[in-house]
Amino acid sequence: MTESVARAVARERRPPPGTPPTAREPVNLWSEDEAIGTDRVRAFVAILRTRGCYWADVKGCSMCGYARDTLGRSATAEELGTQLDRVLERYRDEPYVKVYTSGSFLDDREVDPTSRVRLAKAFHGRARRLLFETLPEFATESAIGEVRDAFGGELEVALGLESTQPEVLSRLINKGETPTQYLAAADRIRSFGVRPKAYLLLKPPYLTETESVADVVQSVAVARSHFDAISVNPVHIQNGTVVEWLFRRGRYRPPWLWSLVEAIRAGAADRGTTRLVTFPTAGGLPRGPHNCGRCDRTVLAALEEASLSQNFDPLAALSCECQAEYERLRNLEPLGVEA
Ligand code: SF4
Ligand SMILES: [Zn+2]
Repeated sequence: MTESVARAVARERRPPPGTPPTAREPVNLWSEDEAIGTDRVRAFVAILRTRGCYWADVKGCSMCGYARDTLGRSATAEELGTQLDRVLERYRDEPYVKVYTSGSFLDDREVDPTSRVRLAKAFHGRARRLLFETLPEFATESAIGEVRDAFGGELEVALGLESTQPEVLSRLINKGETPTQYLAAADRIRSFGVRPKAYLLLKPPYLTETESVADVVQSVAVARSHFDAISVNPVHIQNGTVVEWLFRRGRYRPPWLWSLVEAIRAGAADRGTTRLVTFPTAGGLPRGPHNCGRCDRTVLAALEEASLSQNFDPLAALSCECQAEYERLRNLEPLGVEA
């Protein structure tokens, strides 16, 4: 991948500025299974329509196509207020609430401070835990403190750390910050009485299956003392990304679920008291992490159950005939054969 490919892909993915009717609708709302500690709970997920991640305009991460879900300009406070009304119409007092913006909730260009506080207050006394995502540079005491105090419950701040290897993060994923900045932000977040959560990426472009498993396992070992929870996200092919550009040219395959199982099992053994989870997007589909097609559903169900229960032992019993093929291809990958 060249610099010019990354920039051309970044230019094309940002939509033209949205009209007011679009700006009043969230991108998506749904609920899903989750856990808070040992309690199985429902989580309510809202994706707000904002200007999205500024980094996606500068360069963008190689696997991230979230800019396509954005407004192409900043939403006004009034537009965000109407989106919040829509969110609350669908909210059924789920204990866990996750609010995403296709970027950073704490970037004032995406969500202004008043709208952040209004949203947090809306869930005060109704949700036990509120999660949002941010880049490390926006994780300041004033921004987080305002939301924490307005919400009053458990606040969780997620950081897209992806990898603790500087080269992987800067050259393969194209992040603008170093792992050290992510770890420092996690420590800051914890010092504000808030729960830091990390996302790690399984199989950035140009890593083999074996290298990507090792990258996740090493990252869990480095990150675990800084984060209360770590979520491993296997790459799925998003539109308008460098990863899609490679995929279309036969130069990238999403990770095998066997790699995810291996990374989770090894990571779990070394996670200390940190919660380790994975809820793959597009699991079992050609553009998501997948195996042979026959075992995918079983493997995905086992991974979800392990994530919710934190009992990883049953993963050892998973098997399928395709494991032999996976091992064979994986051993050929260093020779330039695509797994
Ligand atoms: S992965 Fe995060 S930092 Fe990178 S472009 Fe997407 S939203 Fe921005
Ligand atoms: Zn199989």
